[in-house]
Amino acid sequence: MKNIYKLKLVKACKELLNYDLVKGTWGNLSILDEKLIYITPSGYDYRKMTPEDICVIDIDGNKIDGKRKVSSEWILHSEIYKKRKDIKFILHTHPQYSSLASVCLEKVPSLIEDTAMICGENVYIAKYGDPGSKELAENAVKYLKNNHAVILRNHGLVTVGETFNEALSAALICEKNIFIYTESKKISDIIFEIPEKKLKELRQKYLEYYKQK
Ligand SMILES: [Zn+2]
Repeated sequence: MKNIYKLKLVKACKELLNYDLVKGTWGNLSILDEKLIYITPSGYDYRKMTPEDICVIDIDGNKIDGKRKVSSEWILHSEIYKKRKDIKFILHTHPQYSSLASVCLEKVPSLIEDTAMICGENVYIAKYGDPGSKELAENAVKYLKNNHAVILRNHGLVTVGETFNEALSAALICEKNIFIYTESKKISDIIFEIPEKKLKELRQKYLEYYKQK
């Protein structure tokens, strides 16, 4: 067990409170350390979180350490880590605009260049799965594709990254993009989208820069 990962996760929980991404104890966060997942406990107040409250599980969900009940969404985290070898941090939140998109859209086009770079060319809405189910996890992986954000139907948002900061940026930028999308529809019949070729180039530029860091 590495205390540094527990500390990192606690720090991330506290920082998350500065943004309007979660309500109450909803949402969950995890860090991957080789084959171990450090994850927040189920339904526990982020303000009270200490390193002792963090749960450690293996990739199959077997509990290795932690006195509290593991987040009910651990399958979602484990399935993403199995599929995406470039990811070390997962942030699952229930923010306002992604939740709005989760009930009425198939996908959200990345209208601003930062979204195209950090989230992906589009952000897709995964098919419905019950909270905590394998179905939800598999649908999330399928619709996440190689992006850094995916919206869960009638539920919320999942963003990923190599670090907490990257996953947090993806969540904040995804929210901003949906806000712009919904507001622009109110004031204009025309929405200027970034050409498909440019979307690909922007995303590639980000991934190349990011990998070189
Ligand atoms: Zn949730």
